[in-house]
Amino acid sequence: MLTASLLTKKRDGGELTDDEVRFLINGFCDGTVADYQMSSLAMAICLRGMTTREITSLTHAMWRSGKSATRRCDTPRVDKHSTGGLGDKVSLILAPLLAACGVHVPMISGRGLGLTGGTLDKLEAIPGFRTGWDSDSAEMLLDQCGAYIISASPEIAPADRKLYALRDVTGTVESIPLITASILSKKLSASLDALVMDVKIGSAAFMKTQPDAEKLAQTLIDVGTGAGLPTRAILSDMDQPLGRAMGNAIEINESLDVLEGKDRGNPKVEAVRELTIELCAEALSAVGKASSLDDARTLLRKKLDDGTAREYIDRMVRSQGGKTFERLPLAKEHTITAPESGYLESVDCIALGETIVALGGGRRRVEDRIDPSVGLSIEVAIGDKIGRGDSILKLYAPSRQASDYIDRLRAALRWSSTPVEPRSLIIQRILSSAEAASYDDSSRT
Ligand code: URA
Repeated sequence: MLTASLLTKKRDGGELTDDEVRFLINGFCDGTVADYQMSSLAMAICLRGMTTREITSLTHAMWRSGKSATRRCDTPRVDKHSTGGLGDKVSLILAPLLAACGVHVPMISGRGLGLTGGTLDKLEAIPGFRTGWDSDSAEMLLDQCGAYIISASPEIAPADRKLYALRDVTGTVESIPLITASILSKKLSASLDALVMDVKIGSAAFMKTQPDAEKLAQTLIDVGTGAGLPTRAILSDMDQPLGRAMGNAIEINESLDVLEGKDRGNPKVEAVRELTIELCAEALSAVGKASSLDDARTLLRKKLDDGTAREYIDRMVRSQGGKTFERLPLAKEHTITAPESGYLESVDCIALGETIVALGGGRRRVEDRIDPSVGLSIEVAIGDKIGRGDSILKLYAPSRQASDYIDRLRAALRWSSTPVEPRSLIIQRILSSAEAASYDDSSRT
């Protein structure tokens, strides 16, 4: 096969065969397909798209470019993947909560680059916490505490690691076929029994509109399920941050609030709890650990409320080298007040995320160091009525730098003089067509 001919075929909208996709990915890994050729393929895929069959071949070839976890027992293995959003700390609660319900959660996570933080960076705010483990040691972590959250080792889907680095610098990240193959190749390597996707929709998400988010979710479900990994999805709102906290240490602290039942009744804390429970309920019911979503929710609430999930996060943190999961110190607090009274109409999440990055709480480049104590807390949700002078945001940053950002942050929240509808957090649930046909959805509250 000739690489250039395959690139022309894709450029002209042709469908690559299974063998052709495998030839390109294997060649990319062994160096016979050059980086510039792979970049050209990525751009052709971005512009021309791929059929479900091609995406399945691409996912398979990328998954098989590396190793898969070897299971040591029959305990069901589940995971959740979020397409990323501001304040998304769900993994920090979901992993110990699911482990507390008797399933294993081998979670391979990422670092933050750009506006939305990465789970690994949040966990590394805990002194001593280690995220780099080889696959055999990682399996031992699962035996010890039922869950781990680690970085992808070089043996996991190396084709994805190489391709993602190219996509990042060639304008080819935003492509449903490439995103699907990238996510699923890593999840398939974890030898999971079920995967739940949290596909975010909104101004701070990859997918800005509901039709795009539905298309990504459906593609992930079709390709994942077709490759032997039962996959479900929840579409959730990302037009405003999830919960109050945005940043690294501050999100650890908010996860603890949820795990300890602190500030129950605060709508922002409840939103984090509700979304986590829904995602966990899908995972438990997908592997038959609960007979209905309602039974799963009851079990999950119990494990949160009786402190079992809280114990599991301590175990997980200790097994990965941290001391305990406890509240972390934040930089100096600066309160930002409302310039006028009114109803919160919209939040410029990009401005909030950019401020955190500018103050050192996130990365501009892969090699940047993060200051975990920098963060933001948003006190209001879309639709809330606020009086002039009420506290709307808290910025945690060194005083010297903070003052430059106060006006920009205040302007990131926009107000209306007439009432504004609050946003629903959970927008839609999507199952594979086979599951949807056999599923009684009456249990959904
Ligand atoms: N997350 C991934 O792992 N890969 C993508 O391509 C996008 C998001």
